[in-house]
Amino acid sequence: WQTLSDRINHVTPSATLAVDAKAKAMKASGLDVIGFGAGEPNFPTPDYVVDAAAAACRDPKNYKYTPTPGLPELREAIAAKTLRDSGYEVAPEQVVVTNGGKQAVYSTFQVLLNDGDEVIIPTPYWTSYPEAVKLAGGVPVTVFAGADRGFEPDLEALEAARTERTKAIIVNSPNNPTGAVWSPETVRSIAKWAIEHHIWIISDEIYEHLNYDDAKTTYIGAAVPECRDQLIVLNGVAKTYAMPGWRVGWLIAPRPVAKAAAKLQGHMTSNVANVSQRAAIAAVSGTLDVVHMMREGFDARRKAIVAALNAIDGVNCPTPTGAFYAFADVSALLNRPLGPNGTVSSSSSELAAALLDEAHVAAVPGEAFGAPGYLRFSYALADDQLAEGMRRFQKWASR
Ligand code: PLP
Repeated sequence: WQTLSDRINHVTPSATLAVDAKAKAMKASGLDVIGFGAGEPNFPTPDYVVDAAAAACRDPKNYKYTPTPGLPELREAIAAKTLRDSGYEVAPEQVVVTNGGKQAVYSTFQVLLNDGDEVIIPTPYWTSYPEAVKLAGGVPVTVFAGADRGFEPDLEALEAARTERTKAIIVNSPNNPTGAVWSPETVRSIAKWAIEHHIWIISDEIYEHLNYDDAKTTYIGAAVPECRDQLIVLNGVAKTYAMPGWRVGWLIAPRPVAKAAAKLQGHMTSNVANVSQRAAIAAVSGTLDVVHMMREGFDARRKAIVAALNAIDGVNCPTPTGAFYAFADVSALLNRPLGPNGTVSSSSSELAAALLDEAHVAAVPGEAFGAPGYLRFSYALADDQLAEGMRRFQKWASR
């Protein structure tokens, strides 16, 4: 539509939210849809967090705006949590509380990029990164690493993509959509390369506590302390504490960057909802017991879904060791008749649409993550739903 800005016309809508919205609309119309689309933990927010929020609702001091970068107590709690979990010190002034990790991503690029600046995005990538880069006038540069490398970036390929305009690189481990946890060697080598070439590192650590088997999150700022002057860490409560709807995230950056992000926020959203920030204080300053409990639940589902996917002829799913996503190669299901109607899909996008329409199973096509030929299944859903969804996929794909 001509009236709209080029800026917004160049943005692709969020495919993950679109799949989720379609699945939810089908459900609302009475259809029994199994949703592997959204990255939403199916656990409730812990009671002690909800209690803190309920108490905050009754205290009139929380009816006011908060300081733009967040409540001082929350910024302090986030700094303390960073020392506890990541193993290094940050000052509360380096923390800016944002409306979800998503706003932290958006703000980071708004304050870092000039028109034409390039951001290297290891691919498969989380669907919002390239769009946030484009919205800031930047140019996303994708560098693909496939299942053959465990979806771990290859330093030589990153170097080949580097130009004079390279301003930043994204690190996202544990990773959405692949579930890969990058090795300490990979993380360290990216940090050293970024230092050598004066490239900002944007480390999205939102799945930090969701590791399985022997995998462990390598915190880039702890592994290579010298990179901290050019490091921006993104995080939030959505995944760790089952709080996606509360919309609390944050960024941790060198002071001038944090100040700039707060300045931007001052004109955009003023601050995150006061009550949500009070809830987040309870979450981040509490123990990690609830996370460990959820992780055990996810781990059992991870094993179940990987086994079920690999049992389907034409599906190949490496075992992920982080987050709550299984990223399955479905290219062998393309260009052949599937389902009761013999539907032929020529892309993973068409396959996802057919699977949803015909088998009522929602998964996100790899196109949304720069990886055609794959489907992403979030396994943050109930065990019986997972089993039923896999049964339907298997039945549909075997006809
Ligand atoms: N980063 C990654 C890699 C994600 O997967 C998500 C959510 O799906 C986010 C950031 C943002 O989460 P939120 O805005 O809900 O805090």
